[in-house]
Amino acid sequence: VYPTVEISSVRKTFGPTVALGGCNLRAYAGEVHAIVGGNGSGKSTLAKVISGVLIPDSGQVSILGKSATSPYEARALGISNVFQEVLVADECSVLDNLYLGADTPFGSALSQEEKQRRGSALMRELLDFDLDLSTLVGELPLSIKQWITIARALLADPKVLILDESSAALDFDSTERLFQKMRQLKKAGVSILIVTHRIAELVRIADRATVLRDGIDVGSLGKEEITEQRILELIAGT
Ligand code: ADP
Ligand code: MG
Repeated sequence: VYPTVEISSVRKTFGPTVALGGCNLRAYAGEVHAIVGGNGSGKSTLAKVISGVLIPDSGQVSILGKSATSPYEARALGISNVFQEVLVADECSVLDNLYLGADTPFGSALSQEEKQRRGSALMRELLDFDLDLSTLVGELPLSIKQWITIARALLADPKVLILDESSAALDFDSTERLFQKMRQLKKAGVSILIVTHRIAELVRIADRATVLRDGIDVGSLGKEEITEQRILELIAGT
């Protein structure tokens, strides 16, 4: 099986800070791959490197056998990254937020009616209620803002979906709906990368896990090896 994402010896520094110090990862279609590690271990930096937002100092990033050197190229290759920072434009409507950045030279321009139709159907599925898409996002609670960023990523029909701490703002029922959606995407062959520090959550959902410590992958676990204890040991280095 060919990896959807292959990261080899990736190094990324910010001035004196080594965020990634030679990092490796292989993710596959139809699998949930967890990226786990302590605070500051390089998880979000890795997510940004995969999505073309950050360019590594050295090492290789391969997306379905190709390389991307910008967020646009990564998107064209099928990468959608739901960033840890909940990126919404408060002064814009839900609908405009759902399609924020979609009309790039690589995106296919949809009619307003088609955007409305697809957007409201997906939001209804994710939220389990009807949200008026003309609502200004600034009036909405953080959990719905988070869902908007997830929906935006899904509307791009990704081959690789990255969720960076996307359940952090969600309650128990919402997290269950997110997991349900992830199972559905898996069946459709989507490669899902979840960044999380909620170990109990990833034990339930992950098929594979890469453990980071100080910007280095210190463990790569298959489904049967993923236990809370094993992951805590790898994070702590004991
Ligand atoms: P995690 O997501 O695992 O908590 P990050 O990837 O966000 O970790 O950060 C890894 C390290 O890189 C941290 O020490 C963090 O402070 C640093 N870092 C991340 N982004 C930047 C940036 N844009 N500028 C400077 N330092 C950064
Ligand atoms: Mg992070």
